[in-house]
Amino acid sequence: MITRHTGDFKWEDVSVLAYQETGTNFKSITRQILFNGLGDLPCQLRYFEVQPDGYSSLEYHEHVHLVLILRGKGEVFLGDSIHAINQNDVITVPPNTWHQFKASRGDHLGFLCLVNVERDKSKLPTDEDLQELRKNPEVAAFIRS
Ligand code: MN
Repeated sequence: MITRHTGDFKWEDVSVLAYQETGTNFKSITRQILFNGLGDLPCQLRYFEVQPDGYSSLEYHEHVHLVLILRGKGEVFLGDSIHAINQNDVITVPPNTWHQFKASRGDHLGFLCLVNVERDKSKLPTDEDLQELRKNPEVAAFIRS
C-alpha cells in the first residue's frame, strides 16, 4: 500500500485534522494520520505541523513518542531543558517526561510522531506543576499552557 505525497506535506486520502478534539492548551497545529496500526504493528504514525506561532500541549504520559523532524525547525522542552530542533533530528520522549514542541524559530515545524495505538491519556500540568516548572526561568519563559 502506498500513501502518496501530493505536495506540501499532504498525503492522498489523509485528512488534515485538529491537533486534538478539545482543549485550548495548544496553538496552530494540525495532525494527519499516515498509518493506523496493521497486523503485528499496533502503532500510529502521525504527521504534525506547527505554524510559526504555534505549539503542542505541555504534557506528560506513560507512553513513548518517537519523533522525526521532517520540515523546518523549532524548539522542544523535554524533561527539564529546552533544545533547538532541526530537520532530520530524532527526538525520543521517554515515559512520564514533560514535553512541548514549539515552532518558535520563525519557521514551520513538521514532524512525524510514532506512538502505540493503545496508549494512556496525556496529563496536563496542574497549577502546582506549573509553579514547579517555572522555578527555572528559562523554562518559565518557554512553556505555554
Ligand atoms: Mn505527548
